[in-house]
Amino acid sequence: MTDSPISHVYVHVPFCSSKCTYCALYSTVHRDEPARDYVAALKLEIEKSAQSFGFRGPDTIFFGGGTPTQLSDELYAELAEHIRDSVCPAVDAEWTSECAPGTLTAAKLRTMRAVGINRLSFGVQSLDNEVLKSINRRHNAQDVADTFRMAREAGIDRVGLDLIACLPGVSDARWCEDLEQALTLSPEHISVYGLTPEPGTVLVHQAERGEVTLWDEETYFRRLDHTETFLTQRGFERYEISNYAKEGRRCRHNMAYWSGRDYIGFGPGASSRVGLMRWTNTPDVKGYSKALLRGDAVPRTEEHVTPEEDLSERCMFAIRTGDGLHLPHEDGPFSALYANWRDGLAALETNGLVRREDERWHLTHAGRWMADTVAAALLN
Ligand code: SF4
Repeated sequence: MTDSPISHVYVHVPFCSSKCTYCALYSTVHRDEPARDYVAALKLEIEKSAQSFGFRGPDTIFFGGGTPTQLSDELYAELAEHIRDSVCPAVDAEWTSECAPGTLTAAKLRTMRAVGINRLSFGVQSLDNEVLKSINRRHNAQDVADTFRMAREAGIDRVGLDLIACLPGVSDARWCEDLEQALTLSPEHISVYGLTPEPGTVLVHQAERGEVTLWDEETYFRRLDHTETFLTQRGFERYEISNYAKEGRRCRHNMAYWSGRDYIGFGPGASSRVGLMRWTNTPDVKGYSKALLRGDAVPRTEEHVTPEEDLSERCMFAIRTGDGLHLPHEDGPFSALYANWRDGLAALETNGLVRREDERWHLTHAGRWMADTVAAALLN
């Protein structure tokens, strides 16, 4: 453990080799020059923040994106070494890097491991090469297998695969094959996402022109049901709606988010939460780098939440996890709020959406497919 009040660090690397058709996240197609400025700026942001918050020894660090491994070997190592030296991760810290299969070499993986990265999250999405091409991913199924093997050879024993259950062109049978094929690699963690069609994305334009067919809700639920049965029968625990892990292999960084712990995010578009303060850096890599390199503050939006709003946020996350939402019967500043939520949950219990174990509330099987509705009903 750490002596710092902030134990979780997120670093946003906003570069990708190309834009996936469904993606609405902030990322930009990689160019060397902006990447060099970005790394120089990021180092300044981390130094300033380390001075203001005095944090040392975080328990988890997460490189997300974008595609962190899109950085050159040299820039990636420079950034990781700077973070290691500035914040001195705890001895048993979990240090994750998201990566795109095909952007890693054996040498880069060895460097990553040597710097301290001990967990990888692969953005696989599908193992069907035609589907991968159609969504503008640059890797194929063989790249996934090759990169996975290289990660093991580099000594990384925590590897997760991210998959999307309802990509256009994926049949039920193909989805079952994707899961089977993914397990042949023996990952410790699997995330399975639905896909919300985001306005403005290429995918939505393709659907509007009738070039692709988007999935319906029934297909989505059927796939996720199959996923749960398939993965839990093979030793995975569903510890959050979209996340499955082998015993002891949950993602500690994401667990920290879902438990409402404080974290600091660095980089353009990164969010932070410290006490009742929330802020998000402006998602603009050039503006971000320019501001820091000329000595200005990072452009960002800020918000102060009330203690009740803070607690509500925690509830929204907790109810989605396998551990459930703990609402203690105790006197205190939030006892009236807890009592209101208990009443709301009791109503949902009669509809079969939640169940109670002592003071802990969990989504039922039906409730898991309606988690957003449950959370909204709870907070109303
Ligand atoms: S790799 Fe990830 S962040 Fe980059 S475009 Fe694709 S989905 Fe978006």
